[in-house]
Amino acid sequence: MRERVLILGAGIQGISCALSLSAKGYAVTLIDKDEEPFSGTSFRNEGKIHLGFVYANDHSFQTSALMLEGAMNFGLLVENWVGRPVNWSSLRSSPFQYAVHQQSMVSEAALLSHYQTLQNAYETYRNAGFHYVGSCPQKLWASPQVVNSPINPSIIQSIIPTEEIAINLKRLRQLLRHALKRRGVQFLGNRVVHSVERSSFGFCVKGSQADGTDWRAEGGLVVNCLWASRLAVDATLGIMPLRPWVYRLKFRMLGQLPPELATMQSYTVALGPFGDIVTYQNDLTYVSWYPSCMRGWSDALQPPAEWEPFCREEQVLTDHPWVQDALGELNELIPGMNQFQIQHLSAGVIFSWGETDIDQPESLLHQRNQIGIEAFDGYFSINTGKLTTAPLFAHQLAQQL
Ligand SMILES: Cc1cc2nc3c(=O)[nH]c(=O)nc-3n(C[C@H](O)[C@H](O)[C@H](O)COP(=O)(O)OP(=O)(O)OC[C@H]3O[C@@H](n4cnc5c(N)ncnc54)[C@H](O)[C@@H]3O)c2cc1C
Repeated sequence: MRERVLILGAGIQGISCALSLSAKGYAVTLIDKDEEPFSGTSFRNEGKIHLGFVYANDHSFQTSALMLEGAMNFGLLVENWVGRPVNWSSLRSSPFQYAVHQQSMVSEAALLSHYQTLQNAYETYRNAGFHYVGSCPQKLWASPQVVNSPINPSIIQSIIPTEEIAINLKRLRQLLRHALKRRGVQFLGNRVVHSVERSSFGFCVKGSQADGTDWRAEGGLVVNCLWASRLAVDATLGIMPLRPWVYRLKFRMLGQLPPELATMQSYTVALGPFGDIVTYQNDLTYVSWYPSCMRGWSDALQPPAEWEPFCREEQVLTDHPWVQDALGELNELIPGMNQFQIQHLSAGVIFSWGETDIDQPESLLHQRNQIGIEAFDGYFSINTGKLTTAPLFAHQLAQQL
């Protein structure tokens, strides 16, 4: 009989693990408190498949190297699990232009030196036949350009065009949900996980359902992909992290650009506590401005319960002062952005190691290389870190087992 694996959490990480382990022959049960898979943070983020441009303040290059590895494996692994080539062009955003802020934490010269290291590392993947979610450009970035319309040159010193993109999360969700069905993964929704115990047959996972009744499930192996609840459930087995961590609550807005900006490219403002705009040919635009949209900070074992509604429902907060502040800041950067028509507003939780915010150059939030799988004799806990790295970690888990 095939060994049963219980995978806790059906975000990008849990789904990727379910697909990689079912492909390896395991009987997989995927468990989530939501009714459907891919409803949490994985559905409420920017969707950027990071090549490593953002992590120029990690001078060890380790974060960028890991992001690049995740990015260059992302498309191939998803295609493998879906069982056919994917038409990535229908999922891709317009490419990111890196808008170097006058107050960038890292100088333009240092950014360019980092980007050149990135290019060298990328060429190894390219020469080995890997693709970056459907494309194999020769160069990942081009020389800095003079700032002109629609960007305000008094705020931005130069524009660096890149090949980096985000992917449409609605379409990725469709692909992954379809793959779960195709692979015969058992999905148990509406089940909150409270604890994991070791038992004679491996593990017993216990929790409650929406109506308050208890449930339990048994399996030979457990993979914890609970993201915001990961540490709390690890703790029920006595597993505690040995370093400080922080949860942040970050909002994002989806909506329509004003007509005069309708053909705008995607932008990331580099480098520091700034923001991003992501545009698609036939879909809503993503907008977030860090100082206004980062609305919660917690170093508790689990984020505060008050954050939960913001991460589940669309909030009608568009008149809230911080929303207007965010659009005001973006309007300084790109005149006209204060006419952005918000259609969806919700938040996601970000877990990271560290204690200080990204406005501090030495903050650990600039380093995301200490992420991935921790193994405890049949129990695995995965710190996803980024959407970008989730398929890679699922693949590594399948190789470990
Ligand atoms: C605004 C924002 C922008 C971001 N932008 C990017 C980006 O551009 N690129 C990038 O690579 N990353 C980005 N990230 C980070 C990325 O979204 C996360 O790293 C990733 O989605 C985490 O995936 P996950 O599967 O671990 O978590 P989730 O998607 O949250 O999945 C965890 C699942 O566990 C379930 N769950 C939680 N607790 C319980 C429980 N007790 N019982 C049962 N089920 C439970 C949840 O319902 C959820 O479905 C961003 C994050 C945010 C918030």
